[in-house]
Amino acid sequence: MQYVNLANNVQMPILGFGVFQISPEETEQAVIHAIQAGYRHIDTAQSYMNETEIGRGIAKSGVAREELFITTKVWISNYEDAKASVERSLARMGLDYLDLVLLHQPFGDTFKAWKDLEELQAAGKVRAIGVSNFSPSFAVELGAFHKVMPQVNQIEVNPFFQRPEEIAKLQAQGIAVQAWAPFAEGKNEIFSNSVLVEIGKKYGKSVAQVIVRWLVEQNITVLAKSVKPERMAENINVFDFALSDEDKAQIATLDLGKTIIFDHSDPEIVKFLAGYKVNA
Ligand code: NAP
Repeated sequence: MQYVNLANNVQMPILGFGVFQISPEETEQAVIHAIQAGYRHIDTAQSYMNETEIGRGIAKSGVAREELFITTKVWISNYEDAKASVERSLARMGLDYLDLVLLHQPFGDTFKAWKDLEELQAAGKVRAIGVSNFSPSFAVELGAFHKVMPQVNQIEVNPFFQRPEEIAKLQAQGIAVQAWAPFAEGKNEIFSNSVLVEIGKKYGKSVAQVIVRWLVEQNITVLAKSVKPERMAENINVFDFALSDEDKAQIATLDLGKTIIFDHSDPEIVKFLAGYKVNA
C-alpha cells in the first residue's frame, strides 16, 4: 500500500474503502471482506447511518486497530456540538480514537464545528482533521481564521469531473485531496467507456483499475465502494502498472468540467442539504 503524508505527518493509506449507500445489514460483512482484501482505510460518515456496523466489522476483522485508518464525517445538523457528535460516533464504532474526521459539507456553522475538531485533535481523540466538498478558498479560509489548516479535503473527482485547477490549489496549500465517487457512481456508462477500456487493454487492467491508478498518480486518495469481494480486490490491485503521458492525455479528454452527481453551488442543493437532519 502507498501512503499520503498529511501536513501533520499522519500517514494515510492512499486507497480507502467507501461505505456510502451500503445498507446497515450489508455493512459489517462488507467491512470484513474489504479488510481481508487488503484495505486498511475505511471512509464512513454520520449520515451513512452504518457506523455501528463498521465498528462490528472492524472488531471481527482480526486486524489490529492501529493498522487501520478510520474516517467519519460530521453532518451539518451536528455542527453546533460537533465534539459531542464525534464522541457518539466513537461510541457507536466502539473505538477510542479516529484517524480522520471531516466536516461533511461547507454549510452551516462550520467555524464553530472546526473549533470543536481542533479541540478533539489536540486531545488526541482524532489524529487528522479536514473538510469535504469545500472550495479551495473556503478550506483555506477556515484554516486561516483558526489554528489548524484542514489536512484533507474530500471532493468528487472522477474522469468526468477532473478539477485540475482546484486539486493543484489544494495540494499547493498542503491540503491532501481525497476523491469521492471515483467511478462516478457508475453513471455515463463509465465502466464501458471506450477510452478507458482501450487504456486498460494495454496493461491487462479493468476500467476501474485505470481510474484508481490515474488518481493515485496524482497523489489523490481514492475512496472506492463495492459490496462485491472480487471488485474490492480488483480496485486495490493497481500498483503493478503505470499510465503513460499519452494515456493521461486521453483521459483528460473525458473531462466534462462539471459534476454529474450533485452540484454544491446549486441553491436548491444547498437548501436540501441544509434541511437534512441526521439523528446520529
Ligand atoms: P463510486 O465508488 O464512484 O461507485 C460505486 C459504484 O461502482 C457501485 O455501484 C459499485 O457497485 C460499482 N463498482 C465498484 N467497483 C466496481 C468495479 N470494479 N467494476 C464495476 N463496478 C464497480 O461511488 P460512491 O460510493 O458514491 O463513492 C465512493 C465513496 O466516496 C463512498 O462510499 C463514500 O465513502 C465517499 N463519498 C463521499 C461523499 C461526500 O460528500 N464526502 C459523497 C459520496 C461518496 P457494487 O457495490 O455492486 O460493486
